[in-house]
Amino acid sequence: MSGFVYEKPRNTPVVWEGDLVVVGGGVTGVFAAVRAARLGLRVAIVEKQNLFGGTATSGLVYMWHSLYDFDLKEQIISGLSEEVIDRLDKDGQVDKKPWANPFNPMALIRVLDLLITEHRITPFLHTMYAGISSEDGKRVQYVFVENKDGRGALKAEFFIDASGDGDLCRDLGLPRYSHGVMQPPSYCFFMKGNTTNDVIEWAVRKHGAEFGLEDDWGWYGEMPGQEGLSFRADNHVFGYDLSKAEDLSEAEIEGRRRAFMFEAMLRKYVSPEYRIVNIASTIGIRETVHYKTRFQANETDLLTGVRYEDAVMQGTYGVDIHHEEDNGITFKDLDGSLRIEYGKGCEAVEGNWRHDMGLDDNYARFYQVPFSVLVQEQYDNLIPVGRMINADKGAFGALRVMLNLNQLGEAAGVAAALSLNGGLPVRELSGIKVREVLREGGSCL
Ligand SMILES: Cc1cc2nc3c(=O)[nH]c(=O)nc-3n(C[C@H](O)[C@H](O)[C@H](O)COP(=O)(O)OP(=O)(O)OC[C@H]3O[C@@H](n4cnc5c(N)ncnc54)[C@H](O)[C@@H]3O)c2cc1C
Repeated sequence: MSGFVYEKPRNTPVVWEGDLVVVGGGVTGVFAAVRAARLGLRVAIVEKQNLFGGTATSGLVYMWHSLYDFDLKEQIISGLSEEVIDRLDKDGQVDKKPWANPFNPMALIRVLDLLITEHRITPFLHTMYAGISSEDGKRVQYVFVENKDGRGALKAEFFIDASGDGDLCRDLGLPRYSHGVMQPPSYCFFMKGNTTNDVIEWAVRKHGAEFGLEDDWGWYGEMPGQEGLSFRADNHVFGYDLSKAEDLSEAEIEGRRRAFMFEAMLRKYVSPEYRIVNIASTIGIRETVHYKTRFQANETDLLTGVRYEDAVMQGTYGVDIHHEEDNGITFKDLDGSLRIEYGKGCEAVEGNWRHDMGLDDNYARFYQVPFSVLVQEQYDNLIPVGRMINADKGAFGALRVMLNLNQLGEAAGVAAALSLNGGLPVRELSGIKVREVLREGGSCL
């Protein structure tokens, strides 16, 4: 950096005015917007990409896990996640199973477009959130955006920060923290060619170094209904802090290098049939910073299934921490199982975290998170929601998946409507009421 330059003050046109602005059009943000619109709010949604869905579409991450409890007996999640799965299912675009719902991200793009238009939500695509204004430090009045029309202001009574990194919270100076070493990103792509993992594991271990690829743990899955086409998240991109602009640029280029080197390695040593047929338009970010709210989720309470009368989210996905420091990955499930993998084909370390804690085998079938995880105390009319969630390292490893964040997005939309209709700041809302309205709207809580 070399010094500062003075920018002339300017008058910025107010280009939209309504009840709620959602910044970030990932699935979390879209679900927040839709829930609020269903409760009568006039909503706008701001997304820097050309499409909605965030990591699920631009990042190609094609997997929503289970809507059921850990034993696959009782359905614990429904709401908009189930509605979307059902819509995808009508066109055969999801492999709907009790234990997982892999889908075609291209089809999700269309379903999210329909949700936005059907609910008369004003879309601002290709539009970058660029700043925020609060005259008194208690209420937000405007967000500033930049797009092909130049700079504009959106005026609203309520704001939801669903930007993933918490860009609005950052600009408001809200208290934040990181877990030191963040979970590394991966660059996802779809690949044509034999999807059996053993041949790929062999190639990475034997020839990866020639292509600048580490032997680290990754995952893949067959695309529903498309034999010979797999989703790949084989390569982590280590050593970057993606809340920083410079790191983000470098990691995008390094992530794509790894993807194409992976393809080149397979073509050279396994078969020329391997081809990348679609690559994500943005790097898949697992973690950056977190913002403090009234409640911090913690691993022990989560995995032992502590119950809350104001629960607004239920889930089963276990702790899943990708290690930045040693290429490994730690999994902990509700039933106590613990597995740590290091590299492709390495023997996993196995254990039982419940037994290590002196707990019996009577495990929780699902976990919950209370409304207060969404309540920042400083601003009356702002909710942060998404992967910037207030959670310790282990709880974040579990909560970061989409079915969980989708539900929290819905809760944020409902809370925005309750706050406006009742004239109450977020911190005074009843989480029990939020839960009630979520249930009336079809959520399975
Ligand atoms: C490689 C990888 C694999 C994963 N695998 C799974 C999986 O199998 N299943 C699962 O459920 N979860 C998985 N996850 C986790 C999950 O996908 C993410 O945690 C989740 O999608 C994050 O949702 P979000 O809405 O917080 O963020 P995002 O999906 O990133 O959405 C944020 C949106 O905000 C927009 N935005 C950001 N800043 C601005 C700005 N300044 N102006 C305008 N718009 C902005 C972005 O473009 C984006 O669309 C995976 C993640 C990664 C990276």
